Amino acid sequence: MDCCVCTSMPLILRPPRNSICGACYEGARTIINMINNLETEKTKQNTNPNNNNNGSLASRRNSSKTLDDCIRWWSEQIEILNQQKEDLGFLRGIVSAFKEQIHTDILVSPGGHGLPIPAHKSVLATRSEIFKNMLECDECKAAPNNQTITIPDLNHEELSSLLEFLYSGTLPEETIAKDVYALSRAADKYAIPHLLRHCERYLLSSLDTSNALQTLEIADVCSSHNLKETTLVFLVKNIEHVVSSPRFEAFVHRNPHLTVQLVSRAYANGSK
Ligand SMILES: [Zn+2]
Repeated sequence: MDCCVCTSMPLILRPPRNSICGACYEGARTIINMINNLETEKTKQNTNPNNNNNGSLASRRNSSKTLDDCIRWWSEQIEILNQQKEDLGFLRGIVSAFKEQIHTDILVSPGGHGLPIPAHKSVLATRSEIFKNMLECDECKAAPNNQTITIPDLNHEELSSLLEFLYSGTLPEETIAKDVYALSRAADKYAIPHLLRHCERYLLSSLDTSNALQTLEIADVCSSHNLKETTLVFLVKNIEHVVSSPRFEAFVHRNPHLTVQLVSRAYANGSK
């Protein structure tokens, strides 16, 4: 069918050149409905009495009726996104206080007698309730100068990654890839859910037969239910490959309860 939207040569169409094919019609309806749904959702959030936001132009405007409205909506969203990027860049400026050690007031020591890393108590305390409690303990109060806290579970490099995350709220993917298991455990132990979600996303996206057993262990330790469930399903699908791998025996010794869960799941799956 002739379509004035998706044809590459609209001039060869028969006048009045305003016919539209089913796919373009459905696509246009879907875009308009999607934006109406997003606007309704946003209006609900903005009218929530617990929300101080008075609502953007987009949320106060009536529902989108045409593709032209949709284009205006997207332009507004791009402006909001650019503003948020600018705000985020401003907030992340604090990472330079860590990297350049500006007015640091505490030393954070890794395990294994590694060199301590200077940091700021206020940052540690606002990012983790556990650090806040550690800093408020009697021992720290008693020695206001040259205070040190020790994070025995992390080596120097892992601790440096953890601290960088606390300042910037993110990490380069190669850093997460290198330290993901240590960072996951630290996120769980020191109650930093934002870091745990970063690690979970990385582990989910990199799940394969070479790392699935270790991922299952971490998901179990950190009570990451979604990650654990996805990994169990993946392991069951690849059970023959997994049980014949040299890592499996060591895994069984370390995690008898997880082995029972995995084997019974695989057995139930095989008997269906
Ligand atoms: Zn079309």
